[in-house]
Amino acid sequence: MFDGLREKLGRFSDDVEEDVEEEDTEEEPNTESATGPAESATAGPEAESQAETGAAPDTEGEAAPDPANGQADGDTPADGQEDRGIAERAKLFATGKTVIDEDDLQNHLDELEIALLSSDVEMSVAGEILSGVETNLVGETRKRLQSTGNLAQDALREALYDVISVGQFDFTQRLADAEKPVVIVFTGVNGVGKTTTIAKLARYLEEQGYTSVLANGDTYRAGANEQLGEHAENLDVPYISHEQGGDPAAVIYDAVEYAEANDVDVVLGDTAGRLHTSEGLMDQLSKINRVIDPDMTLFVDEAVAGQDAVTRASEFDDAAEIDGTILTKADTDPQGGAAISIAHVTGKPILFLGTGQGYEHLDPFDPEEVVDQLTLGE
Ligand code: GDP
Repeated sequence: MFDGLREKLGRFSDDVEEDVEEEDTEEEPNTESATGPAESATAGPEAESQAETGAAPDTEGEAAPDPANGQADGDTPADGQEDRGIAERAKLFATGKTVIDEDDLQNHLDELEIALLSSDVEMSVAGEILSGVETNLVGETRKRLQSTGNLAQDALREALYDVISVGQFDFTQRLADAEKPVVIVFTGVNGVGKTTTIAKLARYLEEQGYTSVLANGDTYRAGANEQLGEHAENLDVPYISHEQGGDPAAVIYDAVEYAEANDVDVVLGDTAGRLHTSEGLMDQLSKINRVIDPDMTLFVDEAVAGQDAVTRASEFDDAAEIDGTILTKADTDPQGGAAISIAHVTGKPILFLGTGQGYEHLDPFDPEEVVDQLTLGE
């Protein structure tokens, strides 16, 4: 899952860390002959004499030091113990000691941006991650995730967590608190694994001690009845359907009545994934909302669809406000772009990941776990 992205993110952390270590070495008072990176950092004819005298190099044209980091303002000459010039030219990391040249950092951030965009992370979300990484590197905003001892990786982990944890709530707790039957309606296009996901959720709910009834609100598509009916039979859960072409709101309404009469805890209602016009789809979804007033509307799409999934999430959210997303086929997605972007773009959390074709392949979405997986490979 998300292997390609993990590799690219790992490269960012490693590259930055390497540069940080080089700068660290340069900062040590050095009586040996200056070689390698030190030369390039203080390039120019005066480099050698600076190294000998400890005088600050010319800061002309460089960015002003960040006042927030409490560094000297550059007026005071170095005390001879270490070369303050590099620190003045550099961004300070959160330790207050570790430095990296601002241009180097910018290069790494540019590379990170390319890595994110090429993994199908939505553009505004990539921007948010980049500014988060930068802020986390120069500030002290790291609170939630445990430090890995690698500053660049920590900054990245925190920035990723911030975008993918948007709107998170405890699905199981909400279910426990809600009056029964809880009605959950599923939206999304055909072929992404919506029907399978409804069946998986019925299995998941059973494991949590809840009974459920499946309702086929996709009265438009030929074969939809048989498909969901088969899952209901496999799982041994009740199933409500009408003739093809019937009113989807009426089907779900019947399922709610069935649940009330039979003390069933949760109604899981499918809806059509495609109609002739998107207007027809919107009308149908808003009618279901009016007639049923579901407790939750969950959008289902496939992780592998990347940006398309993100765009569809917004469109479906406009048609019938969603409470969260379930991303299927995460097991076959090397990119992770949709998983990273969708919560931030819709403002609604990812609640589950589909991780295979079996009924048991549905995992509650845990932002911290996903960040670990993306950055630590755990
Ligand atoms: P629907 O048209 O959206 O209802 O899609 P289906 O539920 O019929 O699923 C389409 C295909 O995707 C089926 O072959 C499913 O087994 C497969 N599928 C669904 N979820 C997952 C998943 O999480 N991982 C994988 N690998 N395949 C899945």
